[in-house]
Order: sequence, then C-alpha cells, then structure tokens
Amino acid sequence: MEHCVNHPNRTAVEHCEVCNRALCGHCLWYTDDGHRLCEIHAREQEEAGETVLPPETYAEALNNRPLSRQPTEKLQQRETNNQEKDDIPYKGNSQDLTAFLSAVMAVTVLLSCMGGAYCLPIAAFLLGIVGFTNASKAVDPQRTRLLSGISLGVGGLIFLGILAYFGFFFMFFVFTAIAASSGP
Ligand SMILES: [Zn+2]
Ligand SMILES: [Zn+2]
Repeated sequence: MEHCVNHPNRTAVEHCEVCNRALCGHCLWYTDDGHRLCEIHAREQEEAGETVLPPETYAEALNNRPLSRQPTEKLQQRETNNQEKDDIPYKGNSQDLTAFLSAVMAVTVLLSCMGGAYCLPIAAFLLGIVGFTNASKAVDPQRTRLLSGISLGVGGLIFLGILAYFGFFFMFFVFTAIAASSGP
C-alpha cells in the first residue's frame, strides 16, 4: 500500500499527474478539467491562469466515495443471492419430476412387454430410490412418495423377473451340463 508523500500515515489515493508523487485526499488538488496534482504543481497551474480546486473541496468526497460505493455493491450482490435462494423451491419440483419420470418409465416398460429394454426397469428402480429418499424435499412429498413407490415396485418386480428369467436359464444350463457329464 502506498502512502502520501506528506503524510506517511495516510494511504495515497492518487498521484500528481506532473511529478507522479503519491498523494492522500488531503494533499490532492484538482484542476477545473479534472487533472490531479500535488500542491506545488497546482499552484503552478493556478499561476498559469487555470482554476484549481484545493483538497478541502474534494477531501470529503474522496473519503466518502470508496465507503459509499462498496456497501451498494455488496447490497446488490446480496440481492442477487436472495434471487438465487428464491429459485430453490424449483429443486422440489425437480425431485417430483424425477419420481414422475421414473414412474412413467416403469409403466412404459411394463406396457412394452420388456422388448429388450432390460436396463429401463433398473433405471426406474434407481430413480425411484432417488425420488423416495428425496421426497421430503419435494413440493408434494406424498405424491412424490407414491410415484416413487410405483416405480420402485414395478421396476423392482421387473428386475426380479429378469433375474429369475436369467437364473432359470442359468440353472437350466447347469442342470443340462450336469446331466450331460454324468450320463453313461
Ligand atoms: Zn506534482
Ligand atoms: Zn497527504
């Protein structure tokens, strides 16, 4: 942090545009057209016929400017944060939607005679678990639990059915293999 050439304990806010010395708000002079100068060069400008403004004119404004600007920025940030928080209820809707989608998926699988869609009941089952565990966050937890329950039940049943189907085939092959090897 840079300090004023005249006040070692004050933070410099600007530099003289002529000699580039660091100046605090109490040593900073302005010309009428906005140039920032130290007192020496401000006096020079004044002698040359320019209007110069002594530090007292702006010191107050300079001290207040960074203070008054920051709180408004923080306030605006807080407002945007609040807006984000206001959007959170949509999360409940998405939980509800997840359960609804898993239920639709499960019923679709049930109606489509499992035409090769072996993964869908598992997906519906998993989504059902997700929907069920997050049901408390949903807008309508009861409906979400019901929908999740449907997908869990249907998905789980189909999943078990597939397992039994493959298990049956596996047993069938095992038994055939045993029968073939133990034959005469
Ligand atoms: Zn200067
Ligand atoms: Zn100073």
